[in-house]
Amino acid sequence: MIETQFMVDHMLIRLGKYLRIIGYDAAWDSQVRTHALIARANAENRVFLTCNTHITGQYPRPEKVFVLRETEPVKQFQIVVTEFRLDSQKKLFSKCIRCNVFLEKVSDREKIRAFVHPNVYARFKVFFTCPRCGTVFWKGTHVANTCRKLGITMMSAHGSECSVFEYPTPNS
Ligand SMILES: [Zn+2]
Repeated sequence: MIETQFMVDHMLIRLGKYLRIIGYDAAWDSQVRTHALIARANAENRVFLTCNTHITGQYPRPEKVFVLRETEPVKQFQIVVTEFRLDSQKKLFSKCIRCNVFLEKVSDREKIRAFVHPNVYARFKVFFTCPRCGTVFWKGTHVANTCRKLGITMMSAHGSECSVFEYPTPNS
C-alpha cells in the first residue's frame, strides 16, 4: 500500500511540520501561489490540506483534498492523524523537519563531534544526520516535550508506554 503523502497550503505549514515529525511526507512551498501547489499536489498524488472552504471554486481542482475547519495546529494534526489513520509511532522523529527526508543513523559518532555541544556529545550515545542539510539530531528532552504537545504516547518496542526513551542514556 502506498503511504498517504500531503501538500499543505500556506496557512498550514505548522501542521506540515507536525506530519514530518511523525515521519510522513508533507510538502509545502511558501514561494509559490496556491494554484501551483495544487498542480504539484495533483502531479505527485498528494492530498491537498487546506483551511480554505472555497478551494474548489477558486483554483484548479485538487484531485485529493481535505478541508480543515479547525485553526489550531495541534488539533489540526490530531484530526488529520485520525482521518487518514496515520501511524504516529512507527516513524516518529525519523525525518528532517526542514528537508522532508529520512535521517541516517551516525555509525561513527566521532565524526559529528565537532558539530554538537560537548555536553550533548557526552550525554547522548546515538546521533542522526540529515543526508540533505547535514544537521545533526539526537533524541533529547525536546522529543518528550513534542510528544506531549502533540498528544502522542511514545511506546516501547513491546507496545507498553515508555517513560524513558531508548536514547539518550545520560552519563551523569
Ligand atoms: Zn535536513
